[in-house]
Amino acid sequence: MATKYLFFTGGVVSSVGKGVTAAAIGRLLKERGFQVAVQKLDPYINVDPGTMSPYQHGEVFVLDDGAETDLDLGHYERFIDIRLSRVCNVTTGQVYAEVIGKERRGDYLGGTIQVIPHITNEIKRRIAAVSKSTGAEIVLVEVGGTVGDIESLPFLEAIRQVRFDIGRENSAYIHVTWLPYIGATGELKTKPTQHSVRELRSIGITPDMIVARSDYPVDDSIREKIALFCDVEKRAVVPMVTAPILYEVPLLLEEAGVADYLLQRLGLQPRSRPDWTDWERMVDEVRRPKQKLRIALVGKYVELHDAYMSVREALKHSAIHLGVELDIQWVHSAELEKGRGWDILETVDGMVVPGGFGSRGIEGKIEAARYARTHKLPFLGLCLGMQLMVVEFARHILKDEEANSTEFDRSTRHPVIDLMPEQRDISDMGGTMRLGLYPCELQPGTMAADAYGIPVVEERHRHRFEFNNAYRQIFEKNGMRFSGISPDKRLVEIAELSDHPFMVGTQFHPEFLSRPNRPHPLFFAFLKAVCQHAGLQKSANPLIVTAE
Ligand code: GLN
Repeated sequence: MATKYLFFTGGVVSSVGKGVTAAAIGRLLKERGFQVAVQKLDPYINVDPGTMSPYQHGEVFVLDDGAETDLDLGHYERFIDIRLSRVCNVTTGQVYAEVIGKERRGDYLGGTIQVIPHITNEIKRRIAAVSKSTGAEIVLVEVGGTVGDIESLPFLEAIRQVRFDIGRENSAYIHVTWLPYIGATGELKTKPTQHSVRELRSIGITPDMIVARSDYPVDDSIREKIALFCDVEKRAVVPMVTAPILYEVPLLLEEAGVADYLLQRLGLQPRSRPDWTDWERMVDEVRRPKQKLRIALVGKYVELHDAYMSVREALKHSAIHLGVELDIQWVHSAELEKGRGWDILETVDGMVVPGGFGSRGIEGKIEAARYARTHKLPFLGLCLGMQLMVVEFARHILKDEEANSTEFDRSTRHPVIDLMPEQRDISDMGGTMRLGLYPCELQPGTMAADAYGIPVVEERHRHRFEFNNAYRQIFEKNGMRFSGISPDKRLVEIAELSDHPFMVGTQFHPEFLSRPNRPHPLFFAFLKAVCQHAGLQKSANPLIVTAE
């Protein structure tokens, strides 16, 4: 069969859940037996979000092949339970870099390089690359930003041309908008949606479906109005009332008949009947009132929870499967340095120190790790979190008060965390870290090995610094165990404390591989330790899984 394409655009305002909608629709199609892939087209000029501040962009999501991508790819992978690759995130920066590179090589000799056709052709080539490299039968393509943005015009023109190239029967446009609520009159307004559809049509795209996000119930008359003014069938106007539980979205879209409509539009018959039993049980489980676990997330971008999206989701996945509810306390590590926020740490049953870059708030995180160690509080350190757990250990157990990572003190006399040799001569910032999937051998009899239950795992990385092997022996002698090591024995991948209920740090980012239906084993083991610390009874929850 010819590859089918679903294009997602956004209208009215950003942040209305376009990425989650695409991810959820991808899941509906997978449930019907189709192989799907999702691609995000980002209009910014950065080559990838790797060099952007999390304040600007939220988390950077890392794929198996080391691509540093938009956080929406995390939604796609988690909702659909697939693994995506580099071709699935395209930015204006990548497109221009490619075209300008070709121009300099003389590939267009004699020609004037223009947005149409050169830039749009390169975008189309990248859209086509997804099915070629993944074998997907249905490719969902999300255009970042909102219709009306200057930056997204070449992408919109490219997706318009795709329909012209492959035909209406092989493509559909889904426009995700927002219905504002006017409190004074108590009504939802469709006018902004009408305007954004008009804008879309002025550039040649007529939506086949409108997903109208709203914080309030959307009645039939609103749907009829949108259908009439925007020229879509009424059953293709899909109200998406804000779901209190993120993972409810596929169920809501299922109920609205979205997949059946889209398959019909694309001339496809479902190959299997969707089975939502497990998914429904999972959502019911989230709804069920449960005992709360308080966990401190000690970071430096805590004002923007999106900066730790995958960490939060990974914690949630494990909580669901352990039958507990999470109460995440966002603790700013720079505040800890000023003596504030310590009272929060006294109330929690576990602590996570996630990844990060740069020196702001570092000392606060080191002190937080010290608190977790001395109070026997379950602790999970992710990348930077692991590195600072090591620094803390060196300072207070080995009594090397000046111990540090050379990221924060280049001339420290005790560089327990140091730049990887292969990183020394690199001066470019973008895409130059140790990125993507690398194997890790688990050392028998450790907490990490117990948690995974298998001897070798592959996890996603994003770092420049590593544990300095000159210190391995002395650390081991004093109670730190290196429970995960690279197969060539060169790199410490996991460190843990032997005389602590659970103090584990990973050089990699386990959060990227956690799934709602398959919590990550290390997060799961961490939360089990948190339950124990909180004195919670072993849950009778039927959803409890033995983490693989
Ligand atoms: N800044 C540290 C490094 O580059 C940690 C990176 C991270 O937490 N992802 O190694």
